Amino acid sequence: MSDHYDAIVIGAGPAGLTASSRLAEMGLKVLTLDEQIRPGGQIYRNVDNASPTNLEKMGEEYRKGLTLTERFRKSGAIYLNNSSVWNVEPQGRVCYSRDGVSERITANYIIIATGAMERPVPIPGWTLPGVMGAGAVNGLAKEAELSPAGKVVLAGSGPLLLLEASLLLEKGIEVEAILETTPQIPTPAILSDVPKALLGTGFLFKGLKMLRDIKKTGVPHYKGIKKLRAIGNETLETVEAECGSEKISFQADMLLLHFGVIPETHIYRMLKCHMQWHEKYRYWQPVTDSWGRTNYEKIFASGDGTGVGGALAAEIKGELSALEVAHCLGIIPTYERDSLAASHRESLLKDSYPRPLIDAFFAFNPANFTFDDDTVLCRCENVTVGDIRTIISQGVTELNEVKAITRCGMGPCQGRMCGPVLGEIVAAELDARVPEAGLLTIRPPLKQIPLGELAAMDIVADGVDPANLFKNQSK
Ligand SMILES: Cc1cc2nc3c(=O)[nH]c(=O)nc-3n(C[C@H](O)[C@H](O)[C@H](O)COP(=O)(O)OP(=O)(O)OC[C@H]3O[C@@H](n4cnc5c(N)ncnc54)[C@H](O)[C@@H]3O)c2cc1C
Repeated sequence: MSDHYDAIVIGAGPAGLTASSRLAEMGLKVLTLDEQIRPGGQIYRNVDNASPTNLEKMGEEYRKGLTLTERFRKSGAIYLNNSSVWNVEPQGRVCYSRDGVSERITANYIIIATGAMERPVPIPGWTLPGVMGAGAVNGLAKEAELSPAGKVVLAGSGPLLLLEASLLLEKGIEVEAILETTPQIPTPAILSDVPKALLGTGFLFKGLKMLRDIKKTGVPHYKGIKKLRAIGNETLETVEAECGSEKISFQADMLLLHFGVIPETHIYRMLKCHMQWHEKYRYWQPVTDSWGRTNYEKIFASGDGTGVGGALAAEIKGELSALEVAHCLGIIPTYERDSLAASHRESLLKDSYPRPLIDAFFAFNPANFTFDDDTVLCRCENVTVGDIRTIISQGVTELNEVKAITRCGMGPCQGRMCGPVLGEIVAAELDARVPEAGLLTIRPPLKQIPLGELAAMDIVADGVDPANLFKNQSK
């Protein structure tokens, strides 16, 4: 295997698959790294290995992934599954771990297409066995045809929560209730997004049909719920919430939480890419140009990691990044890049029409949550919300100082689970906007790797020296 490529693509979801395929089809030497066993990313997880029954059950949207994986397999891109990227350097160097061995490789260009993650939101009892992300259950269904057993409650907000509810109901799973934090009556602010949404109604009709199908089942479906709690001794027993003045409670063996999707930004932050805060969507995303180029010439960002737009948008963003990389490498001239990009840009625009309305409808509102003092915020280091509030009351004002003092965000997940809400809590306590509170610093290794794996690597000139990786890690 070579140690230098024209392009390295990180992630084999819709964005990474189209970017890799396009570049490889143009005769470039492309390496695609992904930590999953098979290509497909979150939405098309395991699609080219799914049984006919699962292909049928997961629906038409899921089957679309087969076109992408087939194209990718034929494209000539070299694919390394099970490969976790743990460092990327701006000059085009990538470190990844596979089968217990870490390798360092280089490329002229790197396209990061690491997608999105469910927005983690701590509620009382969210660490109890039986409470998990709805996306994780969705992943297990695709990967291993597993379904939850016993009584299930789904809670949170967003189209994927409703999608998961309808998939479980179709399978005959005992769904006790669907509890949405989405307001009962949408705020008038969403009206301004309606005209644009009417230009692309396909997605909206699909959503309405899904809601009708859920209603037909008669499963209790609440909106505008607050004070959601998971209660149990050893494992989850009950889910409680308030809906207006009504206190509601359901026995449950599983609580599936989903509060929407946010870009997975760890690699960008580790690289010190310029980041911007999106006030409406309440998430961070890397700053890019219209091709996905970050503030580093060689580093491109593509797909949901650059702002959540769904699978089709991710595919198109992958194509656009690939066209610009091919242009930079001298494979296609400017006019060809632009003419090939034109139809993709038009499709991206059309696909984006219903998004603002959907995003406004399911907008995350931190005010809907009390974030009780005794709720565990950082699951890795067992830091509570109260611990954070204490530190702030003592005069600490910056997220990384909070991290250094409390260890919140310093555990194995590197702040993936606590970081987003930590920013909200610190900002609220300071009566400031989230960007004023800062953003957690990320340092390599991004993923957990044994020290032995680092020690076995060669030391290279002007690269990250494994011996230096743990220096200055106090923040
Ligand atoms: C849990 C979850 C479930 C979802 N399910 C659905 C669904 O059923 N239907 C739907 O319409 N939308 C779903 N979405 C939204 C969906 O993710 C996007 O619309 C779409 O998949 C985005 O494509 P992408 O290529 O940008 O990223 P993704 O599809 O997320 O692909 C990113 C890939 O990058 C890989 N990766 C990430 N970090 C690293 C690393 N450090 N090293 C190596 N590889 C890495 C991941 O393994 C993944 O394969 C889901 C989102 C989440 C978070």
